[in-house]
Amino acid sequence: MGLAELGEFGLIDRIRARFPQPAPPELGIGDDAALLSPSPGMQLVVSTDLLAEGVHFERSFGQLRLLGRKSLAVNLSDLAAMGARPRWFFLSLAIPAGFPLEEIEALLDGLAEQAAEHGVLLAGGDTCGSRSGLVISVTIMGEQRPELLLRRSGARPGDEIWVSGTLGDSALGLQLLQGNVEKKDAAATEYVVGRHLDPTPRCSFGLALAEAGLVSAMIDISDGLLADLGHICEQSGCGAELQLGQVPCSAQFAALADATAPAFWQLMVAGGEDYELCFTAAAEHRAAILERAKTAGIPATVVGKVTDSGRVVAHLPDGSIFQPSTAGYTHF
Ligand code: ADP
Ligand code: MG
Repeated sequence: MGLAELGEFGLIDRIRARFPQPAPPELGIGDDAALLSPSPGMQLVVSTDLLAEGVHFERSFGQLRLLGRKSLAVNLSDLAAMGARPRWFFLSLAIPAGFPLEEIEALLDGLAEQAAEHGVLLAGGDTCGSRSGLVISVTIMGEQRPELLLRRSGARPGDEIWVSGTLGDSALGLQLLQGNVEKKDAAATEYVVGRHLDPTPRCSFGLALAEAGLVSAMIDISDGLLADLGHICEQSGCGAELQLGQVPCSAQFAALADATAPAFWQLMVAGGEDYELCFTAAAEHRAAILERAKTAGIPATVVGKVTDSGRVVAHLPDGSIFQPSTAGYTHF
């Protein structure tokens, strides 16, 4: 059977059958609107992200299952950065005529896996045809006690700047997928390509940091550390000094990227789609933060200090100042 025979409502029925639904008195897929109840005392936290074929992904890069995982992961990452617990999501699809049903099923497989891993329920969405490529829009809703939520605006001069995990893998993975970089090491290539196609949102770490009250500002790194730390600085009215020599990269990244080439630092701190967390915290919280990172099973590293300069300055290991070669992806 193809999409044309299944039709819009057949597809929605199939989607509903694939995802566990909110239980009464809540209501998920099937009516004009969903009915959802945040836990008592909790504030709703809502974020949305759109992935468009040709802009955010190429179908030639592979599996729609991973694309399904990623389209929810990028939204989960936004809630992690607020310190919220994810609860529900909405899925809107614009699908080109003649799109293979097996590929839609694979996309739903990936979404269902990621949803189950994070305990989020699909509560609704919208479905329509597309005159160009596939478009996937996910809206996620979560909750947290209002006083625990982490904004971009709380950084203070003297705070330490932290990152979770390692940076640069995803950007290097994309370069490899696009055939711009030599595939020197098959296992390392598979790892960094996996970090691009199937990023891991840092949900439990973000939540633990918020609940412990250790962090002054947080953001997830989707546009590269320099750009995203820049958002924290703008909204907090401060600046930052980064020591790039302290920014952690994976062993696989180090095996593939030439540390002496300028592109090395470009990929690490201006590449994007890391979906790691960048946060600021008072120095006295160092040990408590490392403890939470250990529990979450990921590294967390201090990479610089918040200043009152109003600018982000990135020092290379030799002491010179790094200037990114592009300002990042521009949509228009
Ligand atoms: P309306 O015409 O009121 O927009 P729809 O016919 O589009 O309603 O949707 C019917 C139900 O199916 C709604 O509960 C909606 O949230 C759900 N729905 C539609 N598309 C999707 C989708 N892609 N994923 C999940 N739920 C969907
Ligand atoms: Mg609709």
